[in-house]
Amino acid sequence: AAKTDGRGCARIFNRAMLLLLEHRENLRRSLRTALERGELYLEYQPLIRPPSSVIGFEALLRWRHPEIGIIPPSVFIPIAEADGLMDEIGRWVLEEACRQALTWPSSLTIAVNLSPAQFLSGSLTDTVAQIIDEVGIRADRLELEITETVLLEKTVDNIDTLNTLNVLGIRISLDDFGTYYSSLSYLKNFPFDTLKIDQYFITDVDTDSKGQTIVRSIINLAHGLGMSVTAEGVETWAQARWLIKENCDCLQGNFLGRPLEIEEIGDFIKRPALTVGRAMEQTKGAG
Ligand code: C2E
Ligand code: MG
Ligand code: MG
Ligand code: MG
Repeated sequence: AAKTDGRGCARIFNRAMLLLLEHRENLRRSLRTALERGELYLEYQPLIRPPSSVIGFEALLRWRHPEIGIIPPSVFIPIAEADGLMDEIGRWVLEEACRQALTWPSSLTIAVNLSPAQFLSGSLTDTVAQIIDEVGIRADRLELEITETVLLEKTVDNIDTLNTLNVLGIRISLDDFGTYYSSLSYLKNFPFDTLKIDQYFITDVDTDSKGQTIVRSIINLAHGLGMSVTAEGVETWAQARWLIKENCDCLQGNFLGRPLEIEEIGDFIKRPALTVGRAMEQTKGAG
């Protein structure tokens, strides 16, 4: 009986695996052509310096699949990475985001996420230099966001890469700080301009005293090292207020502005007092 059970289990497991693989295989196949079919596009989430200036936007990749609908990056980027497509997609994101930013007031920055594949390709600095040159955007308007996972391997090469980007005048942010390994040696050895504190720490930052101590320490640490700090995933006025009180330089999150489609950006930056103050009023109005 044990044998039969075992086989039954294996059969069920295999079917589930097969379905998953099939689905994945489908996504994988259609992802190959997504770029050329124009199914990939970017949304732009505002970065706000309290109390009320929009300082720039972060480009966030989306896939409008003809049958499935909009697929978030957390689903398809790992597939693109595994399939060797992320280098090319990443290059497209960079160029598209820079071209968009060129249509905005020149004080606004554009933040672009980099994937490990782009780092490992070995031609990242050339690609970036070429794109900003072709598009004609000022290097200091571009900010590249990387996570610690990008830095895990080939540390020496990575320091070189980041230093070269830094020399070009491009700014570099350490994304999702506080998750992964958060090795402090990264802060010592790599030239980051900004630390982005992961939403994990922001969710209960207005109420959790341990979390508050951690976030306060991260802010002090970053400032001590000459870096600015951005809080990710700010969803409430209580969180925003606490972070502002603690001298957090920049806020990002649905409370201040969800990721916007291109057509929405003009209105967003034109309207005065749109940011912390208005977000607060909207919240009051809503509830
Ligand atoms: P990330 O760079 O940390 O981006 C922030 C994510 O948090 C975005 O999810 C954003 O929509 C979401 N978010 C912002 N504010 C809030 C909030 O108040 N509440 C909640 N619950 N979520 C909020 P998204 O767009 O799904 O992106 C997820 C991740 O995918 C990004 O995390 C980034 O690591 C990656 N990604 C996105 N676009 C690209 C890209 O063009 N290239 C690469 N390599 N990675 C990308
Ligand atoms: Mg990011
Ligand atoms: Mg982030
Ligand atoms: Mg994050």
